[in-house]
This record gives sequence, structure tokens and C-alpha cells, in this order.
Amino acid sequence: MTIHRDLLIAGDDVPAADGRTVDDVNPFTGEVFATVAAAGPKDVTRAVDAADAAFPDWAAVSPFARRKLLLDAADLLDQRAEQAVELMAGEAGGTARWARFNVFLAANILREAAASVTAPRGEVLAAQEEGALGLAVREPVGVVAAFAPWNAPLILGTRAFATPIAAGNTVVLKPSEDAPLASGLFLADVLRDAGLPAGVLNVVTNDPRDAAEVAETLIADPRVRVVNFTGSTEVGRIIGTHAARHLKPAVLELGGKNAIIVLDDADLDHAVNAAAFGVFMNSGQICMSGDRLLVHEKIADEFTARFVTKVASLPAGDPADPETVIGPLVNTRSAQRVAALVRDARDKGATVLTGGGEPDGALHPATVLTGVTPEMDLHYGEAFGPVCVLETFASDDEAVAKANDTEHGLTCGIITENGTRGLTVARRVRTGIVHVNDQSVGDEPQAPFGGVKSSGYGRFGGRWGVEAFTTTRWITLATT
Ligand code: NAD
Repeated sequence: MTIHRDLLIAGDDVPAADGRTVDDVNPFTGEVFATVAAAGPKDVTRAVDAADAAFPDWAAVSPFARRKLLLDAADLLDQRAEQAVELMAGEAGGTARWARFNVFLAANILREAAASVTAPRGEVLAAQEEGALGLAVREPVGVVAAFAPWNAPLILGTRAFATPIAAGNTVVLKPSEDAPLASGLFLADVLRDAGLPAGVLNVVTNDPRDAAEVAETLIADPRVRVVNFTGSTEVGRIIGTHAARHLKPAVLELGGKNAIIVLDDADLDHAVNAAAFGVFMNSGQICMSGDRLLVHEKIADEFTARFVTKVASLPAGDPADPETVIGPLVNTRSAQRVAALVRDARDKGATVLTGGGEPDGALHPATVLTGVTPEMDLHYGEAFGPVCVLETFASDDEAVAKANDTEHGLTCGIITENGTRGLTVARRVRTGIVHVNDQSVGDEPQAPFGGVKSSGYGRFGGRWGVEAFTTTRWITLATT
């Protein structure tokens, strides 16, 4: 039976003002998994009304009560793990392994947000007048507009609202059209069931054809004070432009073209396993996925042989099968897009070491290429699928130059047994995140997460995330 979900506004499930709905399709079966309400501008305004009305009371709730609620929500999310596994497979083809990791990390994001609630929120400042007092106080901003993607829906949906809410703001969340439940309504249910007051978290789902109008209406609303968006660089530019036009700060977490550098002193077993994980986890549909494997020429032959054998053996198919590593992509359109990138590279002279070939519906084979050059679309374009490019280098300088030869700057992995050498290379790579002796994928909620260059700006995580969703006020007390 198909699930139907309405919008979540002011704690109530409400249909769209004009009654429209949109299908949420299972990419593996091609069947309709759910239908959701398709919001228009009136619904967006209703959601902001609710968030704005809830703000003063929520901001005044004791931090200890806010902390307890977020901790209860984390436990509830853990208890609903199996429901999340079904949703993630049904909406976006996520494997069970990936879904369980999503639950684990999303629950930890809630716990980290809970911990942030009782951290000090200000400083005492020097004051000009004798006996006077100056305070710098961090306070919530009001209504936050949040946009979440489908690829790690529980993690990135939760990230979009957890810290803003913990800081005392209220939120209007626009989940991805490819995972409206897992990146939005399912999470909001968890928070609601944990006792979140009505209006603190509102969810507007939409028809993809209305995305631009919905986003613009939300960002333009004068009651919205900060925007966060996780998605592609292309749409990030549009969201950032709207935010700038309305003078609203934005956290933009965008695309990547991440390198995994394998230095010549790497432990090869570790390098092969780590690289396979970093490239192919969630079929390469992670912003931090390794698109490019840069391997020292001294070890390139052995690394390549072992890596290609491993990739060719990765189980592919039904996301519900617990063994599956390469599940379907989010939709057949995405599989065709990835296939076109591979075809373009092959036609222009690249060598396919494993994989390639046409997709089967939304399933694209795990693919490794070499000989990819700048005139091929894959050289600079984000694959966002189970595809990586192998290149060699002869020196650390050359590895750094190749890693930096991209408009993106999200993350990088440097696999080496030599920590000093790894850190030296890490400091020269222009990305927001670097993992030494590891691959490129890693997210921990206490750490500053975000990119440089076209991968966006602003940070989620830790105190950096709190700063993004609070404003600092200067308050003075004069003596008489
Ligand atoms: P996307 O940018 O294609 O879509 C994001 C959302 O943008 C959609 O849900 C859609 O509603 C909205 N949108 C589309 N057109 C719009 C328009 N004209 N105006 C306003 N909104 C519009 O991204 P996606 O497919 O959901 O996610 C994949 C991308 O996200 C990849 O590039 C990936 O690297 C990136 N990503 C980044 C991070 C990070 O933390 N840096 C994390 C996950 C994904």
C-alpha cells in the first residue's frame, strides 16, 4: 500500500493549499513508494507563520529541557532504525548498510546538538567607563530556512535543523523531492514524538517543478533570518544569490571533486580497502566520495591491480539485500548521467579498467577509469555515482598540484604511514577537510564540516555550527 504524507505545519499534518500531491518513486522497482503534498508559495508562507509564531516561546524554553528533548529524539531515532532502512531503500535506493550508518550518525548529530545547548553563550568584555559591564551574548536568530538533499537523507536532514533548533531557533525544512520522508517528514515525526512543540520544525515537501519558486519564497520571507542549503554547487549558487539579495547569512554545503592521494609509503591493504570504501560507499553518492585516486607511480601497478580486483567483486543489486554495496542510484536519470560521463571519457580515449557499460535501470556498475584528460567531462565534473578515475604522480608536489586542480574544495584523503609527511601534504591541499591515513569520507558532528572554493562556505558541526545559527549581541550596563 502506498504511503501518503501531508505537509507538517504548526504540529499538524496538512494538505497543500491547492490540494496537489506528487509521487515519490522507488528507483529500484520504478513503482510509486509514497505520495506527498506538493507545497506552493501559500504553504511556504503558512509554514513561516508557524515557525515565527513558535519562536519566542521556543527560545525561552530552558536549555535543560531542550537538551532532554534532543536526547530523547536521538534515542527514538535509534529505535526506529528498521523503519529508516525501509524508507531509505524505498525512496532513494540506499542500501541497508548505508541506512544504518545514517541512523547512527543522525542520532549522534542530535546528541551533539543537545550537548551544545548548555555550552557558555557569551563573554564579559572590557568597558570604557569605570564599573561598567560589557557582555557579548550569542542569541538565536529566529526562523531558519533549511534545505536537505536525498543522498544521506537522515544525516543531512537532521544536520539542517538540529543545531538551529538546539540554539533556540525555529525551522522551515524543505526536504529533497527524492527523499521527502527520510530527509524530512520521518525526522520531523521523531522530533514531534519526542515532544518538540508545534511550529518549531515545519516541513514543506514539493513537486520538483516548483523547487525554484518554493525556495525563493522561503528565502525572501523577511521573517527568515538564516539559510542553510546542502546540495549541488549549481543550485547552491542560486540559493546563495537569493540569500545575498535579501542580506541573509547562508551556510552552503555543496559539491566536491575529492582526491584520495596514496603516497608510496602507504600500507597497500589499508589503501585498497580505504579507497574502495571512500569511492563506492553509497554507490559514490556522497559529497565526500573520492572521485579521483592519485597514486604514487612507484606503487601504481600493484595498487591498481588489487584495487580493480576488489572493485570488480563488490556485490551489486537490490538495496534491501544486506550484502549489497553498489545499490541503484537515486533515479534512472542519474544513472544515465553517470553513464554519459563514462561514455564521453571512453570515446575521447580513456581506458575503462572495470565496469563501464550501460546502466540497468538505476543500477550503474562500479567503474574505474584511467587516462582521463581535461577535455573529458569527467575530469572536472563531479561523478556523484560509482565511478572513479586513477591517476599517478611522481612527487608530493605533483600530488598536491593535481589534488588542487579543481574548482571544488570539500575534502581529501591522504594515505600514508608517515604522519609528518601526511600533515605536510594536508596543509597544502585546498579543501575544508583532510583525513590523513584515511580516505575522503568522514563526518563527525563535533567537528567543523564544510568546504572552500565552489564547495561552499559556512560550517556545520561543533561550536562553528552554533555560531552559524546564532547572532552575537553587545549589551552594556552603565554605572550611575
Ligand atoms: P541539487 O542541488 O540538485 O538539489 C538540491 C535541491 O535544490 C533539490 O531538492 C531542489 O528542490 C532544489 N532546487 C533545484 N533547482 C532549484 C532552483 N532553481 N532554485 C532553488 N532550489 C532548487 O542536489 P541533490 O541532487 O539533492 O544532491 C546532490 C549534490 O549535493 C551533489 O552535488 C553533492 O556533492 C552535494 N552534497 C553536498 C554535501 C555537503 O555537505 N557539502 C552533502 C551532500 C550532498
